[in-house]
Formats: sequence, structure tokens, C-alpha cells
Amino acid sequence: MRCPYCAHGDSKVVDSRDSETGEAIRRRRECLACKRRFTTYERVESVPLYVVKKDGRREEFDRRKLLGGLLTATKKREVAPSRLEALVEEIENALRGRGSTEIPSRELGELVMERLRDIDEIAYVRFASVYRSFKDMSDMRATIEQLLSQPPGTRRPEPRRPRPARAGETELPLDLGK
Ligand SMILES: [Zn+2]
Repeated sequence: MRCPYCAHGDSKVVDSRDSETGEAIRRRRECLACKRRFTTYERVESVPLYVVKKDGRREEFDRRKLLGGLLTATKKREVAPSRLEALVEEIENALRGRGSTEIPSRELGELVMERLRDIDEIAYVRFASVYRSFKDMSDMRATIEQLLSQPPGTRRPEPRRPRPARAGETELPLDLGK
């Protein structure tokens, strides 16, 4: 490990610890020549994950892109970026735990949304509007209705499947102009 200050080739490790996310080891090193200290990170080279789009194209899973999408969805909402970073971390761990290196984009969207819903409902709808690419307003309305029908705290245990429409239920006083 070459010293960034004097380019000397030898250093000793003075401290070593896991990074906050646990996926990298952070080492504090001291140059044996100039005695200055610097930090290195050692991470496991991870197998790339691929998101399979609707049209069959594969795209490498990009945690920064996902984080960017979440930041956009939570714009002007009271959501700490660190919470979103933790969410991305959780998603990536869930993906790696699936035992497959490919995930359909729809499944990824659902994974994200079921967590985002517990963090911020407005962000959830915004995110859903992109990931589910709502066909029209009634499609979006269905998502909002489903959200409203499940008060906070009752959601997680429920399996998410489309509710069968009951008579009278499809009519809302709110007409979104369709
Ligand atoms: Zn040095």
C-alpha cells in the first residue's frame, strides 16, 4: 500500500474496523517512512446483480441510481438521506439473499415500495408512479386507494395482492378527470 504523501511502499496498520455498513474494512495505516497516516478500505468484490427490464434488457443494479430515485421521490419530504441509504443497503442485502443474480425490475420496484411505504406515503406514491409507470389516473388512483385502505401499522403482515373490487367501491367522489 503506497503512501499517498511520500509514495513509500511500506506502511503499518494502526487501526482496523468494519465500516458502518459492515461491507468494508476500514484500515488506518501509518507510513513507515514519513509517519503520516492514511485510510484504506478493503471490500469484498461483489458479484454484480442485474435488473431485468420489461423488454428483457439487463442492467447492472446500481445502488446510486436507486438512491437517486429515492432522493427524488422524497424531495421536500422530511426523510433523512441516511434513512434512504439504509433502505438501499437493505434492498441490496435482500437481493443478494435471493440466490439469483437477476431480478425483474418490477420485483425490485415492489421491494423498494413496500419499505418506502412505511417511511413516507407521499414518496411511496411518487416512486410508484415511476416504477409502476401508471397507465393512467385510474391506475394511480387504485394505488392511492389501496394505500388509504391500510392504516399504518396494519400493513406489513398483509400479503399484497390486488383487492377484488366490491360493488360501489370503484366510485370515488374524487373524479380525477379521466
Ligand atoms: Zn509516507
